Amino acid sequence: MTTKKIINIAIDGPGGAGKSTISKAIAKKLDILYVDTGALYRTVGLFVKSKGVDPKDAEGVTAILPEISLEVKYENGAQAVYLNGVNHGDAIRTPEMSMYASNVSAIPSVRAFLLETQKQIARTNSVIMDGRDIGTVILPNADVKIFLTASPECRAMRRYKELCERGQSVKYEDVLKEMNERDAQDSSRAIAPAKPAEDAIFLDNSELNFEESVNAIIDIIENKCGGTR
Ligand code: C5P
Repeated sequence: MTTKKIINIAIDGPGGAGKSTISKAIAKKLDILYVDTGALYRTVGLFVKSKGVDPKDAEGVTAILPEISLEVKYENGAQAVYLNGVNHGDAIRTPEMSMYASNVSAIPSVRAFLLETQKQIARTNSVIMDGRDIGTVILPNADVKIFLTASPECRAMRRYKELCERGQSVKYEDVLKEMNERDAQDSSRAIAPAKPAEDAIFLDNSELNFEESVNAIIDIIENKCGGTR
């Protein structure tokens, strides 16, 4: 019997750098799981909104956490997050939920609440996991750590196109403003700020298209872990 070595790949970086689409493609190529940790914070944000609690009210949010049961499932290769038995799909992807997620993610009890779910998935599966604190907090021993970024204008344009494709009516200027606000909040918070791990490889993909970004990251993984293709 051969046991396959578990590989953990951490991809951190600000919003709109393409972490999720790129990570999804790499997961498919390498036949490993893609874990979108932002979806967990977004789902907590959705619950907090449904309860009418202010997402910046640490006490109020902490008080309702015991009412949340989260389950991460893989359906046809795609991650689905179940909140108390219900998958809310794209409802967690709105700009409003981005801000809710950013606000609740700065609350220590929320981070503690989601910690074990994330660690557990990576303990038992080969994963490429994206987020803000994967290389620093969740998977400090990851085999590969990448901090993926691009210029704010470039990231906002990508996010704008993505939202338009999903049928949401948004203005580019609003997307840029929201993105800058969220990045500033995520990288300056007291707990698990979004920053590169000391041993992370920094990649700016402003000048790279999707395929070039995927290949650049595959090259980094191959260099660190040996052949993958
Ligand atoms: O990646 P995504 O844009 O879906 O993340 C939404 C928000 O969740 C981020 O702005 C960030 O505040 C929070 N987040 C986090 N740590 C992670 C993933 C997401 O704090 N590992």
